[in-house]
Amino acid sequence: MKHKTYDLIIIGGGINGAGIARDAAERGLSVYLAEKNDFAFGTTFRSTKLIHGGLRYLEHYEIGLVRESLREREILLRHAPHLVHPIQFAIPIYEDNKYGYGKVKLGLLAYDILSYDKSLENHQSFSMEEMLAFEPNIRGRNLKGGFTYFDCQVTYPERLCLENILLAKAAGAMVQNYTKVTDLIIKEEQVCGVKARDALTGKESEVHGQVVVNAAGPWIDSILQTRNPYAPKKIGGTKGSHILLPKFHHGPRHALYLPAHQDGRPFFIIPWREYYWVGTTDIRYDGDLDAVRATEAEIEYLLREVNFVVPDAQLTAKDVIYSLAGIRPLPVTDSETEEAEITRSHVIFDHEHEGLENLFSIIGGKLTTYRSLARETVDLVYEKLQLESPECQTAEKPSWGGGMSDIQHYMRDNARSQARKFGLAEEQIAYLISIYGSQFLRVLELANELPELKERICKNNLDIKAQIIFSIENELPRTLADIFLRRTGIGTSACRGLDCAVAGAELMGKYWGWNRKRIKNEVEDYRRRAELLYGQD
Ligand code: FAD
Repeated sequence: MKHKTYDLIIIGGGINGAGIARDAAERGLSVYLAEKNDFAFGTTFRSTKLIHGGLRYLEHYEIGLVRESLREREILLRHAPHLVHPIQFAIPIYEDNKYGYGKVKLGLLAYDILSYDKSLENHQSFSMEEMLAFEPNIRGRNLKGGFTYFDCQVTYPERLCLENILLAKAAGAMVQNYTKVTDLIIKEEQVCGVKARDALTGKESEVHGQVVVNAAGPWIDSILQTRNPYAPKKIGGTKGSHILLPKFHHGPRHALYLPAHQDGRPFFIIPWREYYWVGTTDIRYDGDLDAVRATEAEIEYLLREVNFVVPDAQLTAKDVIYSLAGIRPLPVTDSETEEAEITRSHVIFDHEHEGLENLFSIIGGKLTTYRSLARETVDLVYEKLQLESPECQTAEKPSWGGGMSDIQHYMRDNARSQARKFGLAEEQIAYLISIYGSQFLRVLELANELPELKERICKNNLDIKAQIIFSIENELPRTLADIFLRRTGIGTSACRGLDCAVAGAELMGKYWGWNRKRIKNEVEDYRRRAELLYGQD
């Protein structure tokens, strides 16, 4: 690494950095990516988990963004069907609705037109009675009617990010988590590399590259300010918080989307795994980016909204399983601009305009549009390198686990026979497919070699021990937290795996030769990280 000069260095292993690394490596560039924590640690882990066109953006006439997002939605449905699946939303319309029946109808018509080439159904309009038949538990008072429409949900955004990292690696990229970029190396106003420090070992390194892409999400400015503490801010982040609720009695049957009755902000109650994912808030934020947490006031705001639209819910703070907050890496705007009005389109900022060559910063960028953003960025990198760019292929190729065209069909028809063959429950096979897609057989083969690996890791979750070994061998984890939070479904479940952390660390320790002290430290580290993520301020 010391003597190598990469074509491209990427700072940040969130969805955008990962997508850029994959596309660039597959188009033949030599790529180095540094992520200061684990891949997807940042905003990517903390989203509403929607792959969506963004119906709301039509209000701000962001037609281009909506069309692009809807196109990307279709590509992801095709190439990552194990992770991305259709989800039906209900939009109840009340008499005091911020938008009114006619305006929402118009928006949904435009949404259908802009997704004319989609595989999902168009929206439907409902009378008041039909809406209540569809969603019997929502508030009936002042209900005028409503609509249904389809968007998509990504069950594990962190795994979508990881799959891009793994594809980048498979195409020759050097991808490193726990590697913090501490400085830019600049010679004669040209960025020509980065200084980095391994966050776990403290080892320092210098990496040289011809072009650097700063894809550090909300941390973009902290990278730019390593050289110039007075560099003008590019990011005006807003905090968005969610709460996880159990599937409560009289809860909604479908995803609900409506303007919050308290302030008209978009509000979602979304079935996710065996829970509801509820959000979100939208508040300007300039606190510590490494310790973002929901406040009590945000949690109360979200609960009030749930109890308003589902009157029998009667939920209190005690019902909240956990909260999770993230920062939207939005472009800086003046303080007059309302949070909801800030554009969700991305900008690929070329610092040449500021007299600094060979550096781009990614400002904004939705989870949904990471692939097209990556394509655009890699095109610009090729221009910078003055090389002719090969065609971007990411719209044609499946994701890492996406090699099955009809995953639902496969799950239905094969889960039973695979379960018999491997001696596991049918629901476990379906669960493994939902995480690994076409790679699930590799996990099962491991379990077949050593039957104790078929045992569950955690009594509350379907994950099996083979997943830990599979992860160590294939998915670049460095800590227990990486495996629990961002490789399996354990760390995002209700119990967060706090009780089985010791068993998880012991299995990792057996593979990696950890001593007792190291295992104990690993468990404590995991519990600390989980508390930092899910606790409230
Ligand atoms: P990040 O995911 O934040 O990645 C940046 C990475 O850079 C981080 O992992 C960080 O650790 C790393 N980093 C920082 N500093 C350094 C350094 N010095 N050295 C090395 N690495 C560094 N979009 C959708 O499409 N659908 C949604 O439903 C949706 N919902 C959202 C809800 C909320 C509440 C929020 C906050 C956002 C939502 N978004 C959604 C937007 C989307 O999640 C983000 O725009 C997207 O994840 C940004 O990805 P990113 O890679 O740019 O940033």
